[in-house]
Amino acid sequence: MEIGNLIKQGRDIAEGHARELLGLDQDISQQRMKICMKCPLYKSNLGGQCNPALYLNPETGDVSNVKKDGYFKGCGCRLGAKTRLAGSHCPALKW
Ligand code: SF4
Repeated sequence: MEIGNLIKQGRDIAEGHARELLGLDQDISQQRMKICMKCPLYKSNLGGQCNPALYLNPETGDVSNVKKDGYFKGCGCRLGAKTRLAGSHCPALKW
């Protein structure tokens, strides 16, 4: 990953956690969390996490622990923070 992308990713993580601490952007977070909580990649640890050990085929709903065509890897993000960032997106394009 390029240094510029690493810096942006670090800023996004910090911003998402700050917004979570301050209780900002509840509406968009709740809408996205409803989708995440029904997703097979959702893990309840850390207040909700996108499982980075699994891959999801969003068209079939199938889950794999190995990379395959048409499958998207969980991002590993804490969803309580990530879902508050307007410019963030689900790695499986569900939101
Ligand atoms: S971010 Fe996407 S892939 Fe990850 S748990 Fe939420 S809906 Fe599932």
